[in-house]
Formats: sequence, C-alpha cells, structure tokens
Amino acid sequence: MNFEIQILGSSSALPTINRFPTAQILTANEQPYLIDCGEGTQIQMRRFNAKFGKIKHIFISHLHGDHYFGLFGLLSTYNLLGRTEPVNIFADKELENILMSENSPIKYEELSYKLNFFHLPDDTQIIFENKTLTVTAFPLKHRIKTRGFLFKEKKRQVNVIKEKISEYNLSIQQILDLKAGKEIEISGKKFLNTDLTNPAPPQRSFAFCSDTAFNEDIIETIKNVNLLYHEATFSKSDVSNAEKTFHSTAEDAAIMAKKSNAKKLVIGHFSTRYNNPTILLNEAKEIFQNTFLANDGEIFKIEF
Ligand SMILES: [Zn+2]
Repeated sequence: MNFEIQILGSSSALPTINRFPTAQILTANEQPYLIDCGEGTQIQMRRFNAKFGKIKHIFISHLHGDHYFGLFGLLSTYNLLGRTEPVNIFADKELENILMSENSPIKYEELSYKLNFFHLPDDTQIIFENKTLTVTAFPLKHRIKTRGFLFKEKKRQVNVIKEKISEYNLSIQQILDLKAGKEIEISGKKFLNTDLTNPAPPQRSFAFCSDTAFNEDIIETIKNVNLLYHEATFSKSDVSNAEKTFHSTAEDAAIMAKKSNAKKLVIGHFSTRYNNPTILLNEAKEIFQNTFLANDGEIFKIEF
C-alpha cells in the first residue's frame, strides 16, 4: 500500500520559475489528499502527472495567499470539466466566507459539484478519518491562525500466510478469525494466531508543519513520525527575520525533527533570498542528518 508525498511547491511567499508556493499531495492507498494550494497548484499537478481528478479532500493550513490562492483556479477548472464528485475542504472558517461571498469568483450555485466545508478546530483534534487513515489538525505558531496536519495510517490486520491456507485448507471463516487476531482449531489441534499469520505492518505517519515559528508544544503530537515536513524559510544568519515573521530557520526545523524523534525530515518554504537552498540543507544536517530539500515535483516515499 503506497504512502508518499509529492511536492508541488516549495517556495515561500514569492513564486519563482523553479519553485511554486506551497502545495503537496499525500497519497495513501491510491487516494490523493491535497495539502495547501498555492498559486499555480493545478499547473504543477499537470506538470508532474499528479492524480488531479481523484482529489476529494483538500487541507488548507492557513489563509496567507501563498497557501490558498491556487484554490480559485483549481475549483473553477473542476467546474469546467463538469466534475460531479463533491470536494471537501478543511480550513479556517474564514475561507468559507471568502469562497461563498457575493464577490467570490467561485459561484457556488453554478458549480457542477458540491463544495463541503469543514472548519478547523482551535485545539488538537482528529478532523477526518476513513478506512485508511486519520488526519489530526494541531495549532502552529504563526502571525495568523495556522494548523499543522498529522496523517496517520490506521492499524491493519495481520496477514494470513498463503502457504498455510493451502496446507491446512483453511475455510473463509477460519481466515477471518485469524485476521481478527483469534486462535483457531484445525482437526482438534489448537494453533496460535502467530503460527499461521505474519504481523501487520506498522502504522506510518506524515506531519505537515507550515508556516510556524519554532514551537515545542507540538512535539507530543508528532512524536515518532516517519516523515516530518517542516518549513525552513530562513538561514540562521537571518534569525531575526524568522522571529519577526513567525517562521523557522533550518536549524529550528532540524531541532524539531530531533526532539520529535522523526525518522526523516524534509524542509521547504524557502525564502527567495537564497539562490541555492543548499545552505539551509547544510545547516539542518548539522543537527539532523536525515534531512532532504523539498524540490517541486519530487516524491518522498514514506517507509515503515
Ligand atoms: Zn504564512
């Protein structure tokens, strides 16, 4: 079962030719989830062959333009394509006001599909779940209300060993019992569940933290995450800018990865003042070696 993110935009406020503003797609069990939607997100989805039409759920961290201006174009395009499947948007309630206002370029009554809004809570809460995963929203520390998102796979059932099915000619009911973790009896002989099954794979997780000042309050929520995406807008030489604008330095991101015991860190949301963000990568790696730069189009597979 796949569990991976694709970077669609890795720049901070100002887009460049190579880096668009923030947007990412998490794909879990073949279902894509869009996280933030900066200007030009739909172009990036086409450029990088993302599963554009399959997106049902969109998560918006906050209402700075570089994280949601792309929604207007995307929602309009879905309408022009005659989409009928509803679109679910998880965002601050103000976004609903903006999109539904009289002067909004999105004419709700004329859309070919239904737009559903889910308002993000103030505290840490599960905001979405299905058979595959749960999504938890948690507060970040930024100039306006901003949420991070933790995507976590649900616990899966144990796998019945194929050879054992034929060896013991297991019935459907016996297979179901084994999958449910029960022990079974075959011709009067008791078997332990572990004799006939392989353990379920561990649950994988992905945390998305953009935009935010350094904030240790979230460590408990993102503890042991497999992949942490954390913004790293500034170098340590520009720490005063980071403090002023409630953003993080590459070092801040790396400390967060270390303290939360993340397995891997991807940094992004780079200020355009750095022609080459390798300087940020090197600063982060001094503290957390397993750090990677987000580059538009790049896919990071989330391993067990
Ligand atoms: Zn922001």
